[in-house]
Amino acid sequence: MRYVEEFRDPMAARALLAAISRVTDDIGATADHPVRIMEICGGHTHAIFRYGLDRLTPPGLEFIHGPGCPVCVLPMSRVDECVELAERPEVVFTTFGDAMRVPGTKKSLMQAKAEGADIRMVYSPLDALELARRHPDREVVFFGLGFETTTPSTALSIRQAAREGLSNFSVFANHITVPPPIKALLDDPHMVLDGFVGPGHVSMVIGTRPYEFIARDYGKPIVVAGFEPLDLLQSVLMVLEMIRDGKAEVQNQYGRVVPQDGNPVSLAAIEDVYEPRPSFEWRGLGEIDASGLSIRERYRAFDAEAKFGIGYGAGPRHVEEPEGCACGLVMTGRIKPTACPQFGKGCTPEMPLGALMVSSEGACAAYWQYGGARAMEAAE
Ligand code: SF4
Repeated sequence: MRYVEEFRDPMAARALLAAISRVTDDIGATADHPVRIMEICGGHTHAIFRYGLDRLTPPGLEFIHGPGCPVCVLPMSRVDECVELAERPEVVFTTFGDAMRVPGTKKSLMQAKAEGADIRMVYSPLDALELARRHPDREVVFFGLGFETTTPSTALSIRQAAREGLSNFSVFANHITVPPPIKALLDDPHMVLDGFVGPGHVSMVIGTRPYEFIARDYGKPIVVAGFEPLDLLQSVLMVLEMIRDGKAEVQNQYGRVVPQDGNPVSLAAIEDVYEPRPSFEWRGLGEIDASGLSIRERYRAFDAEAKFGIGYGAGPRHVEEPEGCACGLVMTGRIKPTACPQFGKGCTPEMPLGALMVSSEGACAAYWQYGGARAMEAAE
């Protein structure tokens, strides 16, 4: 299989769906008592809805959408700090476009830009580095956001800035790691999960070994998956077969991309530049130990938190979610987006209340984009 069409072949999809139905029946799962499989990654959530897999799979299988959208899990206090940084007159604030419309307590970055803040969308931290070279009289801050997938690129840009002595470049680090929130969910006695579809892109960097605790300590199967429909169907089938057979293992469906030990160059760059924070706040999950990364002392000159006196070093800061917003419950798979009282009413892509409605990996955005009116009817 080398070309994308082969991962979307209808005949193969039908065969996998038939096998999924058989195994779901073997397990004895029904619509009232479904097998609950969490896809951790927001990219998988969107792929499931884009290809209609939620409607094609049997009612005895329920997809639970996990906390794998980095924009969505960012607490509102950190969005507020982005706005504060961006509104400083000396700062050019650079960010990926995804974060522009995420609501803060008072405003989003988009609104701050409309009010005059110098905020620029970039495609890479290297674009921010180039801005720092071109504007030595300004402080260029890059909004470092994301899981292990994006952490290496900010690590490498910090190392490059250090090599060049670019003292007007810094990173507002909001990088987070996947295994700790999975552990937090598994430790929650109210969460009922039977297995996991593991993230594909993150696993390219970290490999499959960091998930071994899920099988070993919690007895749950996990299959690292690709993003095409056949990837997802095959991964779901692999999880179901392990559940049926009473096995709990880490398996890798995305072997064409994900090495068992990850990417050593990327891991070395992360290790060189970042260290685990004692804890980091996640929207919907609260503070989770060692789940976020801060910039190590030797690169402190490039740490926007230290440079501008914000963030964790500046003391505790917690901001409550807006009234009626169920982002935390959706984020942790406790309810579906359509069960949020604001879905399609007080919260739409045009007027979002929460990040889940505007991020390209947000669960609410997936329901809205691919369910639309149907999702709204379900919400009535
Ligand atoms: S519909 Fe809006 S307020 Fe409700 S959970 Fe989704 S993003 Fe949050």
